[in-house]
Amino acid sequence: MNRSIYLDHHATTPLDPRVLEAMTPYLTEEFGNPSSGTHGWGERSLAAVEEARASLAMLLGCHPDEIVFTAGATEANNLAIKGGARASRKRLGGTHVVGSRIEHKSVSSSLHALVEEGFELTEILPDRDGLVSAEGLRDALRKETVLASVMTANSEIGTLEPVAEMAAACRERGVLFHTDATQAVGRLPIDVRETGVDLLSLSAHKFYGPKGVGALFIRRGVVVLPLITGGGQERGLRAGTLNVPGIVGLGAAARFAREEMADETERLTRLRDSLWREIQSKVPGCRLNGHPQRRLPGNLNVEVPGVDSAALMIALKDFAFSAGSACASGASKPSEVLTAIGLDRKRAFCSIRIGLGKGTTEDDVTRFAASLETAVNRIRPRQELQDSSGR
Ligand code: PMP
Repeated sequence: MNRSIYLDHHATTPLDPRVLEAMTPYLTEEFGNPSSGTHGWGERSLAAVEEARASLAMLLGCHPDEIVFTAGATEANNLAIKGGARASRKRLGGTHVVGSRIEHKSVSSSLHALVEEGFELTEILPDRDGLVSAEGLRDALRKETVLASVMTANSEIGTLEPVAEMAAACRERGVLFHTDATQAVGRLPIDVRETGVDLLSLSAHKFYGPKGVGALFIRRGVVVLPLITGGGQERGLRAGTLNVPGIVGLGAAARFAREEMADETERLTRLRDSLWREIQSKVPGCRLNGHPQRRLPGNLNVEVPGVDSAALMIALKDFAFSAGSACASGASKPSEVLTAIGLDRKRAFCSIRIGLGKGTTEDDVTRFAASLETAVNRIRPRQELQDSSGR
């Protein structure tokens, strides 16, 4: 399918050509293993890795030694949750963990894996806007709780969660607080000192870096047990020869994000709001899923009543966007995030996710709204007919 306008920046983002340029030497002549301390190749690779670590630390407001590189946010989430909970159980004996009902699968499956190991899990429900409340989290905490995990920004509906309040509630009770910030890092300012989180996960390809590389922030003093053991890389927390080009790319992407985020956030917010206004005027009856203000700058999740998202996807073949999350697209189950915020099956199947990003222009947004109007006018009468004939 030839989808020429990319509006799916929550699934992934294109590699910034400047990031590729920074990575290229480490895919070619600078091939050294950063663990090879006995020659220049190793030393230069190690220096590049440490420069990337410092760059990411600046983006997050932490010390470089609080960062562990991983193969992406999936691994970082697994390491934070399984490694954090297991270490705390070992030290303190607690066996209760808390999550929310709208987490990414890599978080919810890690929490459920802990249940298999004898932990108890409490999952907090969000409200109709997708907000998980700090009070809800506080109420879920018990004296046996060792870890809680709530995402910073939801990948489907874009809602931004009150992580600072949650981190504070956990800190008061001596509970580790982890946040999956994969959709927020590089898109919104993050300061781990200010928010007070203990563990934070991210993935480079969500902010114009390469795929297959990410990181976990681990606050100094927080103990996490490794999932992968071997050569002792990353202070023994993540063994395996480092992905030097990927890490260099992550560091470069972090630097550009730091420098350009403020302008880009403002531009995307403007584009997103203008797209939503156009959609509302051209396609009456559309509803916004997720919190109207507390949401990612480039995110719209829209229910188009009476129009199945699969039919829209076919009609709008020039645009790349998604129905539900990318990983779940193609599945015949409704999005768990949309059902958790109270949409029934039918409404969930009529919802689409639009993700604007660096390459998105005013013209793209105008064209999308116009094409949506044409598609809806064509599809709606057909589907109404099908519904009335009981199909
Ligand atoms: N968490 C969230 C919120 C995500 O959106 C994603 C990517 N869809 C991940 C975790 C996993 O990231 P990765 O596939 O890069 O490991």
